Amino acid sequence: MKSWTRREFGGLTGAAVLTALRPRRARSQAKAKVAVIGGGVGGATVARYLASGTAPVEVTLVEPSGLYSTCFFSNHYLAGLRSFESLTHGYETLRRQYGIAVVHDSAAMIDPVAKIVGLSSGAKLSYDRVVLAPGIAFQDRAIDGYDAAAMQIMPHAWKTGAQTKLLRKQLQSMEDGGVFVLVVPPDPFRCPPAPYERASLVASYFQRHKPRSKILVLDAKSTFTGQDLFQDAWQRHYPGMIEWLPAEFTGGVKAVDVKARSVITAEETFKAAVANVIPAQKAGHLAQQLGLADRSGWCPVDPITFESTLQPSIHLVGDAIIAGDMPKSAFSANSQAKACAFSVASVLTGSSRSTPHLFNTCYTFLAPDDAWSNAISYKPLAGTIRTEHAFISKVDESSEMRRRAAREAEGWYEAFTRDVFG
Ligand SMILES: Cc1cc2nc3c(=O)[nH]c(=O)nc-3n(C[C@H](O)[C@H](O)[C@H](O)COP(=O)(O)OP(=O)(O)OC[C@H]3O[C@@H](n4cnc5c(N)ncnc54)[C@H](O)[C@@H]3O)c2cc1C
Repeated sequence: MKSWTRREFGGLTGAAVLTALRPRRARSQAKAKVAVIGGGVGGATVARYLASGTAPVEVTLVEPSGLYSTCFFSNHYLAGLRSFESLTHGYETLRRQYGIAVVHDSAAMIDPVAKIVGLSSGAKLSYDRVVLAPGIAFQDRAIDGYDAAAMQIMPHAWKTGAQTKLLRKQLQSMEDGGVFVLVVPPDPFRCPPAPYERASLVASYFQRHKPRSKILVLDAKSTFTGQDLFQDAWQRHYPGMIEWLPAEFTGGVKAVDVKARSVITAEETFKAAVANVIPAQKAGHLAQQLGLADRSGWCPVDPITFESTLQPSIHLVGDAIIAGDMPKSAFSANSQAKACAFSVASVLTGSSRSTPHLFNTCYTFLAPDDAWSNAISYKPLAGTIRTEHAFISKVDESSEMRRRAAREAEGWYEAFTRDVFG
């Protein structure tokens, strides 16, 4: 881990005017300062739970964007089942109701010795504790030819925003009878069932609007999460429409030819009407830059305190971390964030820490009225996080049960986003 000296930190921030940011709320000197970097699910939850707890803290949340659009339910948007606006949330309640200072800027670096976050604008933010939730970044050159320019032709849509809108437009303007090629990355990646949910919901869109079209899933893996549930549903709902090709059949995706709009595997070249290429992933850039990720590309943390094991004074939550059995999901990020907020508050108040209970619940759609779910509890064990109890839907559930899960999922979205953004 690179520990920044004060001199190096000053050199990197250069001649910029370095303004110390002050949270808006009137405050007493006695209050500890917590800086939370990243206003996605993990960061917003940490900020909210610290600010609404009993520990006397001033919380500053640093997030470049003024609005956050959720990846969860973005497959519904792609399938024309939801508006983009319904996925989008602001930070006003966190500001007004919880007194969090929300700063729209990016963290460029952290000096853990001086306890200062340097922002891209040149401003500085001092802290007593810092929590990072930077989400994911994409691995460079994982697929030959898939660069920033290629992403504008073959969108990944794995961070909800302009890419998601572009993919929706491409699906809308695709001719009936075209092939939608979906490239699925190797493990670990953000939300293991989401690519297959995407294939399912795009199939439901095709069925309604372009019934002669096909979906080809080119997978880097040989098996996938919920495979029996997905393959059963693909037979029932979309017979002959979705073809899944594992790496052992294709030799894996090696390259893309953007001009020809084709995806090239070791064995064959597949021509796409629309190509959705989801690249291999790693922890967000800030975590990489600060040396918080190990050789795996992800950040090791203490599973009780969520402090980095490479730089103990920095906490991390969400998709960026190595979380043992916990998948990279919004629910996991939210659960880790609550445990982390508790741990930070304990450090700041000198109170005793306890072992957290961690949870993940996911609703995954096979069709608009057919969803499966899982509910899993986890506990820290021997330096990592292990599954304690698990419920997972079965293939032979009644259609009524699946319909109910789909409706519950809508309710979950509303309750969950309120829990995160207030
Ligand atoms: C298609 C799809 C469907 C999904 N469906 C589900 C689902 O049904 N259920 C579920 O639980 N999960 C789902 N997920 C996964 C979920 O979206 C992620 O696991 C979750 O968003 C992770 O939260 P996070 O806080 O780690 O990262 P993010 O939510 O990505 O937040 C990271 C934030 O950090 C900010 N940031 C990055 N760098 C900096 C910096 N230097 N300075 C300041 N800010 C920075 C970014 O702007 C971003 O807002 C889905 C994902 C996808 C792609």
